[in-house]
Amino acid sequence: MKRSLWVLVWLSLCAVSVLAQDYPVEIELRPPDSRPVVIIEEPLDVLELDAVGAVPQRPVPPRVCRVCDQKTVPGHCSCFELLDQPMAEELLREISASLNPLGLKLNRPVRIKAVSRRQLQNLGGERLLGLYQDDVIYVNFELERREARGVIAHEFGHAWFFQHRRDVNSPGELVFEGFPEFVSFLALTRLGDKRAADRIAYEDQTVYGRGARRFIALYRKSGLPAVINQALYHDDV
Ligand SMILES: [Zn+2]
Ligand SMILES: [Zn+2]
Repeated sequence: MKRSLWVLVWLSLCAVSVLAQDYPVEIELRPPDSRPVVIIEEPLDVLELDAVGAVPQRPVPPRVCRVCDQKTVPGHCSCFELLDQPMAEELLREISASLNPLGLKLNRPVRIKAVSRRQLQNLGGERLLGLYQDDVIYVNFELERREARGVIAHEFGHAWFFQHRRDVNSPGELVFEGFPEFVSFLALTRLGDKRAADRIAYEDQTVYGRGARRFIALYRKSGLPAVINQALYHDDV
């Protein structure tokens, strides 16, 4: 029995090999598909493919800078740019243009120079961010645009004061520093930087802030002519 079973298996194998020779299997060869395989995980009607099949970028919604409230690309607001000479000149022009229509005009033009902290120290003493001297405004170039604007507007206030008041040495500190700080408040308000203007309006720890608050109160009660009159002819506010 066992022997006859092996014979049967051998005969079957022979039959298969003969059949295989009679009917060779052909495999059709095709050139490989050169188109890339794109796996789309979302339904087509949601994905909205454009003409060449690329997925369009979804527009980034505009954001508002938390420092200056201007609409900006996230992390790239121009208010953080460091000051340089062209920016200092641009800011002075911007400040003059915001104040001139109100009647706060300079008698003669002033120049502006962006300088180092050490240069400012040599000119006027330590811890200065800006300085007005002999028709030149000096401003520290380590400041960012948002800080420099307020400092330059303050120095513009000193320039106006020195050019218009006869006895510049007689007024007290509240007028001498409070008026330029008020001018800074006014320029920042008109230029739309409400946060920076508010910082001046609510500051009461220094003579700058206390003086500015008194001028702001006078401005709100009686207008700009009253402020100018106070700054030109009074020693206190
Ligand atoms: Zn900003
Ligand atoms: Zn000052």
